[in-house]
Amino acid sequence: MRMGIGLYVGRLHNHQAVFKTLPKLGVTMVFGSPNLRAASLASKEGLEYFCVDWVFGLPPSRAEGMLIRDCSGSERVWGHGSSGCPSNPSLTAIAARRIARTLRSGRFRGLMLDGIRYPSFTEELAVFLTCFCPNCVRDAADHGINLRHIRHSIPLMLEELRNQTDPENLLNKFIDNPDLLDLLRLRELVIAKVLKDLRKAIGEFAPRSLLGAFLFPPSLARFVGQDYAALGEQLDLVSPMIYTSGEGAACLNAEILNLVKALSKFNSKIRHSKILEAIYRKLRIHQKDLPLTLHELERAGLPPEIVKNETQLSRSKLPQGPTLIPILMLSRQAARIRIESRYAKKSQADGISFFQYNPDHVSSLKAAIKEWT
Ligand SMILES: [Zn+2]
Repeated sequence: MRMGIGLYVGRLHNHQAVFKTLPKLGVTMVFGSPNLRAASLASKEGLEYFCVDWVFGLPPSRAEGMLIRDCSGSERVWGHGSSGCPSNPSLTAIAARRIARTLRSGRFRGLMLDGIRYPSFTEELAVFLTCFCPNCVRDAADHGINLRHIRHSIPLMLEELRNQTDPENLLNKFIDNPDLLDLLRLRELVIAKVLKDLRKAIGEFAPRSLLGAFLFPPSLARFVGQDYAALGEQLDLVSPMIYTSGEGAACLNAEILNLVKALSKFNSKIRHSKILEAIYRKLRIHQKDLPLTLHELERAGLPPEIVKNETQLSRSKLPQGPTLIPILMLSRQAARIRIESRYAKKSQADGISFFQYNPDHVSSLKAAIKEWT
């Protein structure tokens, strides 16, 4: 299904003024907060309005037992302290009630799920290596995964990193460790179950709403519990966040940067440049002139050409059905977003979106849309 051009607007103070300008730029859909007035203002301007829901947001009371637990048994928060454990059925029930309240109004074209995942490399390593809460232990047992064994093996796995002298081995001893693979498989099973439950609930109270999700780029998705094949079965719209430069979660450069930092904490003998090369090979990032220092990776990001690989990889992992709309990062760098937009078009995405509205980035947005259309 060919769809249009989307823009993440989040929470705006001046919806009316902004929404008036967007159709002139070519924007056809916006992603924003669950705000009924914003939805009706968007509709007046001919824009489709999707509300965004951060799925595992903790309730204000921070109910007991909803946090993730690290391998030492300590409760931790993630997502800037806002999120709990995906395997907690109460959190999914809270999300379903919140989404029902939003969608029952019938004023939104659909819903975009955000943060439907476990913690990533941009969190502290002990937070990435979760979760061992009673709900996760129960879910693991249901799938024949021994979470208690994994919990005890994590310190040994990290200790083993100290002895490595080869960058490839250092990386593989971590991300291909059989216990870590079991933990990641559990994450995928939990997230797929949550999405299936939410889809079922939404089908009951808002059958005409489209359901989409912002997902990690496909080369990193497995680390946070997002199995494109399984999630694609439940979604109308898949929006991989293909951010080549940036500082936060899902930004390819920031995720890789934090993985290098985590490995270097246990092994200072192997140079950052060598670890980076090993990660690029593993993730099949083969462009020329890839940054080989952490400073350069942070400052300049990864080459914009990566948008093509990640879009094609998304398509190859997804089942037939969902519309593929990569979301790209807007910045002042009009040249970068223009090239990224061109690569998204070349790789036959069904639509394109941008993160996020900022009056200072309108000329970049114009350049990107021109390239796409
Ligand atoms: Zn848990």
